[in-house]
Amino acid sequence: MPQALIFPDPDALLRLTLANREARALMIRTTRMAQEASDIHQASDVAAAAMGRLLPACAMLGGLMKEAAGRLSVTVDGNGPGGRMHCGVKDNTFKITVHNPQAVLPLTPDGRQDVGGFVGSAGKLIVVKDFDGGEPYTSVSNLVSGELGEDFASYFTHSEQTPSLVALGCLNEAGTVLSSGGILIQALPGCSEKSLQALEMRIPFFANISREIYDRSLRELAENWFRDLDLEILGEEPLTLRCDCSREKMRRALLALGRAELEKILETGEDTRLTCHFCRTERVFGAGEVAKMLDESEESYDAH
Ligand SMILES: [Zn+2]
Repeated sequence: MPQALIFPDPDALLRLTLANREARALMIRTTRMAQEASDIHQASDVAAAAMGRLLPACAMLGGLMKEAAGRLSVTVDGNGPGGRMHCGVKDNTFKITVHNPQAVLPLTPDGRQDVGGFVGSAGKLIVVKDFDGGEPYTSVSNLVSGELGEDFASYFTHSEQTPSLVALGCLNEAGTVLSSGGILIQALPGCSEKSLQALEMRIPFFANISREIYDRSLRELAENWFRDLDLEILGEEPLTLRCDCSREKMRRALLALGRAELEKILETGEDTRLTCHFCRTERVFGAGEVAKMLDESEESYDAH
């Protein structure tokens, strides 16, 4: 499909409060990131759709982290043909990977990508929050359907004990992502029954969130959906897909294999090729460099 069909707004997270601040919402567009991830992993359409739903879900989790220096790592392991999915978030910057990005599944009877079938539902959603200087905090919840929307709603409601409505969607076909995004609405403590009912009446708007987001800005959608619900827009933040790997980090990972492994590598006399799971960048370490690393590990051994 021609590029001109893609809505021009950049990926973003829009924060708002509703119902006299009795509820908060995050609206998210991740169309460009989903396309980039699909290209990086040469993903099948169903894998791209799964990433196009996981990215906005992780943007919600990241957007709710209060600690500025926090890092978030999300694993979805549902035992489906797609295998495990991982997404890392720091400062609204994302990296994402899926174990079998080329796995293909037939469309569902209603013509959608079978994300639930791809992810599988016999497994866990694992969220690790890592703060500088503190112990990482891990929470685990059971997957509900593998469709991801329900799974994250269940996570927010049970693990974080905040009643939450989550809609996620990705509209994509033949390698092109037309839209990806979602909305999270959370009732805050003290939210009145009247406000809850008013919010629930909006649910039908979100049933096809990827089509809503496809050709309208987040602000325009917020105005349309919540105009009469004391809508207050708090701000908009850009979202970016960018891996934080480096040659130095990979070198340290190689070094961490230990002497025995490094010696084995050296005996083969061949270059060592390491590929980042997130951005698929391959880095080559020649035999000379591995020999130097062995010397280093010797020195650190002697130092003990
Ligand atoms: Zn990388």
